[in-house]
Amino acid sequence: MEFSAHEKLVIVHFGELWLRGRNRNSYIKALARNVNMLLAGEDVRLDKLYDRFVIRLGRDADLGRIKGRLNHLFGISNFEIAYATKSELKSIVKLSTELLSGMDKSKVLKVSAHRTYKDLPFTSVDIVDKVFKIAKEMEFPLSNKDFESELKVNVTKDAAFVSCEKVRGLGGLPVGTSGRGVVLLSGGIDSPVAAWYAMKRGVEPIYVHIHGYPDSKDVAESKMPELLKILENYSPDPKIYYVPSHFFQLSAMKAGRYELILLKSFMFMVAEKIAEKEGANMIFTGESLGQVASQTPSNIAAEGEGIKMPILRPLIGFDKQEIIKVARSIGTYELSILPYKDVCSINSKNPKTQTTIGKIKELKKETKLGRIVARTLKSSQLG
Ligand code: ATP
Ligand code: MG
Repeated sequence: MEFSAHEKLVIVHFGELWLRGRNRNSYIKALARNVNMLLAGEDVRLDKLYDRFVIRLGRDADLGRIKGRLNHLFGISNFEIAYATKSELKSIVKLSTELLSGMDKSKVLKVSAHRTYKDLPFTSVDIVDKVFKIAKEMEFPLSNKDFESELKVNVTKDAAFVSCEKVRGLGGLPVGTSGRGVVLLSGGIDSPVAAWYAMKRGVEPIYVHIHGYPDSKDVAESKMPELLKILENYSPDPKIYYVPSHFFQLSAMKAGRYELILLKSFMFMVAEKIAEKEGANMIFTGESLGQVASQTPSNIAAEGEGIKMPILRPLIGFDKQEIIKVARSIGTYELSILPYKDVCSINSKNPKTQTTIGKIKELKKETKLGRIVARTLKSSQLG
């Protein structure tokens, strides 16, 4: 691989991928595919170099935007903004000196070097010694422990890279490496956060949103597409099913105080059918134990009655404040708190908090829920 002198580029370091032994190659492939998807439309080229990616920047590449996108990429431990030079001690020292002169001298600096390719007439210690000396002359405060910035040299066979900016990645696993999962997405605070955690562990989300509009087309005018846009930063072009609740609502009158729990059963039945169609094998929700009246242990147990697929609840142990904190950091909070026409806002004032599996079975039969699910799916629409 050839690099031009002082070429600016981004080096992406994989995270947990290395734990994956035999699957390593397919994980790296998935990560490469995701980088390319996230950076679609940018003037960049992705190359693999040893145990990392190098993002080569074209003339029109917008580094600020690229950094912003990489901040949403699961499966990387960090990325560095670096410059390339020849794998020669003299060139490395020259480039390092130039970079040092642009760095903030009030910040404690660490100088480090690593050789990925070792058949060279100089060692990492030689590099550090020389660069350290120059930094000292430039009056940088230096420390290997409590540092605030780092000048890092990495030497490979083809080129050496010097970086002075390192950005922490999101960690997790590349989206898609854990298969597909249906995420029950509401307009609220919790489920987008649950979706984020599902993606963080490598799940490709298929969203299912149950809405209270007369026609599934009307959801396009709501905040849901906007919410989806934020989630798309983490996994581009996801599928979303907009599913109407009116067939359910007509028959749920009979359920009285059990309406909310029956609604959840209905959602899971719909989710499972869509999951089967989409080749997904898990269902995710934003439920957290005891958060609201409907999320009691007995309700949570009853609502999954008859569902064969695992129902996963990434937020089960979260307090509301903790969920809000994540929602803010991933960018969904502001949209989540906007008013929204919720499905179950009419009859859910005083929901039952204790439900038995027997009771829910009985209600499902009484309301012919299976048939309602089938009818509902026919009126659903891909967003
Ligand atoms: P959220 O903030 O995610 O709406 P919540 O605290 O309001 O959660 P519930 O309304 O009981 O709690 O919903 C619990 C979970 O059920 C949600 O996190 C979501 O996964 C699913 N869910 C609720 N409403 C809908 C909906 N309209 N469409 C799809 N899934 C939903
Ligand atoms: Mg809700």
